[in-house]
Amino acid sequence: MSKSIQSINGQKIRFGAGIRDQVSQEMEASGLGKALVLSTEFQAEMAEGVAKSMGAKTGGIFSGATMHTPVEVTEQAMEAVAASGADCVVAVGGGSTTGLGKAIALRTDLPQIVIPTTYAGSEATSILGQTENGVKTTRKAPGILPEIVLYDPELVASLPVPLTMTSGLNAIAHSAEGLYAKERRDEISRLAREGIRAMAKGLPILKGDPGNLKAREETLYGAWACGTVLGEVGMALHHKICHTLGGTLNLPHSETHAIILPHAIAYNEVEVPDLLAPIVAILGGDTPSQALWHFSQKLGAPRSLLELGVSEKDIDRIIEVSLVNAYWNPREISRNGLRVLLMNALAGNPPS
Ligand code: NAD
Repeated sequence: MSKSIQSINGQKIRFGAGIRDQVSQEMEASGLGKALVLSTEFQAEMAEGVAKSMGAKTGGIFSGATMHTPVEVTEQAMEAVAASGADCVVAVGGGSTTGLGKAIALRTDLPQIVIPTTYAGSEATSILGQTENGVKTTRKAPGILPEIVLYDPELVASLPVPLTMTSGLNAIAHSAEGLYAKERRDEISRLAREGIRAMAKGLPILKGDPGNLKAREETLYGAWACGTVLGEVGMALHHKICHTLGGTLNLPHSETHAIILPHAIAYNEVEVPDLLAPIVAILGGDTPSQALWHFSQKLGAPRSLLELGVSEKDIDRIIEVSLVNAYWNPREISRNGLRVLLMNALAGNPPS
């Protein structure tokens, strides 16, 4: 049984256990002949399974996707695309693999089919982050948005519990910042609430029962909703800090988001309490930041940057980089405020 969802950005979105085996039908329906299947090395076996189900529509597998989409890896993948004679790509994995598919699409205009296996939400955006000479840059273009997304709860069931929890909080971060985004509109605020609600319902179940397919499908729906919010409106302080921490100190993506979220929301909630009120309505608690803090504790997510190897001497550099290139945020960003936020996050103190 599969179900389709009406996307607001023109993507074809389908959900269903086992839907990963329907790639060749989707290709046939879109008039596509051969696909190069993409994955990380870690998920090569999963990619092989999908490639096998595609039969003659498989042009080959490239299992070299890595974090932050380095240009050198994309260049290697481009050689594989040329050798395979593919007229589309199939990305099987999280944001790193989706990123590689997007990087190929940007260079070739090849259509993309994505089978997401985390909750990062990249599949729902026309944003590509890539790294060249150690510098990560982000760009947005309509051709980057994947055409078809197949959400298969059976594939995400193998996502380890700690990564499930942090990846789910990463998704919530898109919706939390979407609630106060400058370009927010009713449709986006509704999706943001739905995304948070789906994660609030599914993640606690998955903590004790990671193979629960109903909760996996619920949280994949949340990933789609939160990812769509990320693609439709601009993000603010939370995403800027995480991007800075990830790029400057090479920290793991979803863990960093999970740790920073309650603190970034604490910084902004004094300015926009009404816009953030849905977080309290969904998660309970006194304030949005407290609600997120207690929710992450309940999920057993990491709560201090020290756990990721950050030290106090890194904080000044992070503050400097976070202050470069002014960006919109609901509350004016002050050096002192940033320091308080980062020191709380470093030590794993409650947000203040
Ligand atoms: P990831 O894709 O790097 O996955 C993390 C690890 O988990 C990898 O080793 C992966 O192979 C493994 N994994 C993934 N799914 C699995 C599964 N179901 N079972 C077992 N192992 C699995 O991590 P991510 O958090 O999904 O993505 C992070 C990257 O995506 C970052 O580079 C981030 O910048 C990017 N991103 C981009 C956007 C965008 O809109 N451009 C949005 C979100 C994230």
